[in-house]
Amino acid sequence: MFPRLLLGFLWGVVGASAAENNSQPLLLVSFDGFRADYLQRFPMPNLKLLYSQGVLVEQLTNVFITKTFPNHYSLVTGLYAESHGILASTMYDPISGKHFSLQNDSDPMWWSSVQPLWLTAQESGYETAAAMWPGSDVTNRTPTHFFHYDPDVTFQQRLGNVTNWMLGDGKKPGAMFAALYWEEPDRSGHNFGPENTTAMAKALKEVDDNIGLLMDELKRTGLWGRINLIVTSDHGMAQCSADRLIRLDDCLHPDNYTLVDLTPVAALRPKEDPERVFSLLNECHPHMKAYMKKSIPDGLHYRNNPRIQPILLIADEGWTIVRRGNKLPRLGDHGYYNSLPSMHPFLAATGPGFRQGVQMKSLQSVDIYPLMCRLLAVPAQPNNGSLTSARCLLAGESCWETSVVIGLVVGVLLLLTIITVLFRCMGSRPTAGPRPFQRLDFLCDDDEPLVP
Ligand SMILES: [Zn+2]
Repeated sequence: MFPRLLLGFLWGVVGASAAENNSQPLLLVSFDGFRADYLQRFPMPNLKLLYSQGVLVEQLTNVFITKTFPNHYSLVTGLYAESHGILASTMYDPISGKHFSLQNDSDPMWWSSVQPLWLTAQESGYETAAAMWPGSDVTNRTPTHFFHYDPDVTFQQRLGNVTNWMLGDGKKPGAMFAALYWEEPDRSGHNFGPENTTAMAKALKEVDDNIGLLMDELKRTGLWGRINLIVTSDHGMAQCSADRLIRLDDCLHPDNYTLVDLTPVAALRPKEDPERVFSLLNECHPHMKAYMKKSIPDGLHYRNNPRIQPILLIADEGWTIVRRGNKLPRLGDHGYYNSLPSMHPFLAATGPGFRQGVQMKSLQSVDIYPLMCRLLAVPAQPNNGSLTSARCLLAGESCWETSVVIGLVVGVLLLLTIITVLFRCMGSRPTAGPRPFQRLDFLCDDDEPLVP
């Protein structure tokens, strides 16, 4: 009973302080494929300046599969891929018979089962905006302001539009929530591999220069210090090699299945007995794990959706699945298990809603959504995230980390136990009359006989 009361009190304090939080506009920026350890490997002076005035989460545990579209949709919904339905870069929907690809992604059918933050904020009466964020140009599901995807639009152009949208036209408030997407350092990570220090140093220098531009533009427009800014990413990057190829044709004739997605997570629809196809694939390669859909581990949160195909193959870190041959498609890749540090991105944030000088080792990426809802004071849709850890990043929130709360409760219980035992021992000492209760041998005095 006591721990429950204590916890209730603590969360009551937390809730009360949250209610007093005033909301400011929020800008969410994603640099695709920014692996968490780039922060240690490369200088990044502008990014470091940004989080020195705010918070840093060194590693985000993102969602499986660790690809761009699933993770960007998770950031704005707080949902695992199986729940929001954007499961991969290439999908097949067996109910509608439709196919999804990065070139054919704007059918609302794929995106409509859940509501991204820009729609929720609109329902709360706010204008919203997005520049190239995956899913933000889908018909009838767009923010107030948006672009159709065009990789040729420069970072500066995207940024200039976002700040204009956030400033408004002077007659009504600007966008309360805006999201900005940039393709680097993902593109360089694929082309050169994350272990190519020279090439990645150049790519990361450009990313850091863009972060400098972002900070300068926010200062020039007067938005710096008035809005909350989150800079994050969707996934990391692993080094691949032509020496680490897994060839499906070595194990199974291609006539036996339809391939929906290939690497590093292959999705297959068997054309004949699924168990037989599975048993061939299960023994195909020591660096590739095969799963029947029903056996995909719970922890991946990647089973409960009809768009997940009957057989899933997951390559080990740095291995590439191909159909045949010796050609390596990319020197760097992502999509692997989300438990791998190489797949993790980071998060940095600053603004009036954030604490200053706080660093956190890790956070679940699905926790960012409830954090953003709290910052905007809009009601969160049902999600897989939690504010339990994320609230420690926020100014004006009482932060009680779970480990501290548990330690406090255990300490108080221990103290109460010791006091009770001591009291009973003192009460059990022999006096003139009969002893009131049986003593506790292991803590009380030694040579006295037990009361019969
Ligand atoms: Zn990529």
